[in-house]
Amino acid sequence: MTELLKNLVHGEWVAGQGTGTPLFDPVTGQELVRVSSQGLDLPRAFAFARERGGAALRAMSYGQRAAMLGGLAKALQAHREAYYEIATANSGTTKADSGIDIDGGLYTLGQYARWGAALGDARALLDGASVPLAKDGVFQSQHLLVPTRGVALFINAFNFPAWGLWEKAAPALLSGVPVIVKPATATAWLTQRMVADAVATGLLPEGALSVVCGSSAGLLEQLQPFDVLSFTGSAQTAALIRSHPQVVANSVRVNIEADSLNAALLMPDATAGSEAMQLFVREVVREMSIKSGQKCTAIRRALVPAALYEAATQAIAAKLAGLTVGDPRNESVRMGALVSREQFEGVRAGIEELKAQTRVVFDGSTQPLVDADPAVAACIAPTLLACDDPDHADLVHRVEVFGPVATLMPYRDLAHALSLVARGEGSLVCSVYGDNAASLAQAATELAACHGRVHVVSPAVGATHTGHGNVMPHSLHGGPGRAGGGEELGGLRALAFYHRRAAVQAEAAVVQALGALPLSH
Ligand code: NAP
Repeated sequence: MTELLKNLVHGEWVAGQGTGTPLFDPVTGQELVRVSSQGLDLPRAFAFARERGGAALRAMSYGQRAAMLGGLAKALQAHREAYYEIATANSGTTKADSGIDIDGGLYTLGQYARWGAALGDARALLDGASVPLAKDGVFQSQHLLVPTRGVALFINAFNFPAWGLWEKAAPALLSGVPVIVKPATATAWLTQRMVADAVATGLLPEGALSVVCGSSAGLLEQLQPFDVLSFTGSAQTAALIRSHPQVVANSVRVNIEADSLNAALLMPDATAGSEAMQLFVREVVREMSIKSGQKCTAIRRALVPAALYEAATQAIAAKLAGLTVGDPRNESVRMGALVSREQFEGVRAGIEELKAQTRVVFDGSTQPLVDADPAVAACIAPTLLACDDPDHADLVHRVEVFGPVATLMPYRDLAHALSLVARGEGSLVCSVYGDNAASLAQAATELAACHGRVHVVSPAVGATHTGHGNVMPHSLHGGPGRAGGGEELGGLRALAFYHRRAAVQAEAAVVQALGALPLSH
């Protein structure tokens, strides 16, 4: 039997009971390690984090906690090679795709260290300015933000075991709130290893960071009124979590990042072969292939003016034909595996479902896999679909296929395009491609109503934009409606989730003596 990874709870490394659940190499099918959370003393784990970890973190200033994050980012860099090895083995990702997760996570951690340093010695934050409540101006109201006195529980998705940990843990720890992370079982190894390395630095107070690998059974039952819960995963699980009796009874603050039918929109004034169209084509192909399309932000719907429907189909298909799929250990491979054979079956089923309302215009499965056995590997080739009548189709706006799959659709005019985009019922991101600043700004303003992020690509930023699906810590990550209604990142805005806001009503001298710093973003 392979090694059973330990959990870090109440400051101790504890093995779960039983033989555990195996984690696999999605290319070879080989078993790698096992995880189990059975039999853990969860009430003790939560109490230890809340009381010991929380008190120690709150005894530090924002500046001290920022320095701690900076130290962690530096120390974890030394283990990058081990992280890449785990990612290749357990996530089946190419080096570039592993980098998005690992280096993206470390970059985000470092970024919060830099932003947090600016908060210096403060131990609470001001939200806005004070306002007078009485005519003489002496009695005032000041909104104050203080770290919540609970635990931040993270239940994460399988696709970003490294970034998913740090993009949440960095703002939580900077806020002074201890973290318990439960990674998705399929890829828990990398999260567990990073937690182990972070704790081994000695920079974190005891109880500041814990990890539970395996089943989530019993975790939600531990939540108390001042705890917060951040979930990333499917809309189905999100619904269970939102309505969990403990969450409801204790009004536990919940952040949800869920499914999303993100769109890319080529503006109506684009012409065949224009730079805007080339940028659009390049981005659709990139988004389909990065992490084999297993990105919550990936482009699922690509909208083009009806006159360019055929040209866009051909241009995207031509680029997809150049993608090599297979074992990421072979350097010629551009796209590795899905995370598991289960996901592979899910993607195949999703394509079949979408086929009821679309045509297949590119099917990469006619090409052989590189160094991978199609009967074993979770490698799947890209599929481009075309939906000729997107007004009368519902599946393309509703079904998220979590793999290298996107659907092209034609539109008549901008109003039509915007109404089709909105059929996604709230997404994480929409990207827009054109070269007229005024019309791009107008479209961005319209799209802002149903997206957490609007990514505008014009020739001026063709070489420098950060990518449709790439989540930068500077910008908000989340989206309304189907996307879960959550908000993460966005610079220091992320700290608000881990703080309690109270209005302090007092004489001016008391307000001034609060000694807090304004939370500027
Ligand atoms: P999932 O099945 O919902 O699992 C997500 C997490 O929830 C895992 O850690 C899972 O643990 C846990 N879980 C499962 N059932 C649970 C329950 N009843 N109570 C508490 N926790 C439970 O989602 P997934 O299939 O791993 O992830 C893919 C989905 O995540 C995609 O739909 C994608 O769009 C979405 N996603 C969104 C974002 C975003 O930022 N918006 C980012 C990445 C992914 P186990 O692994 O142990 O089952």
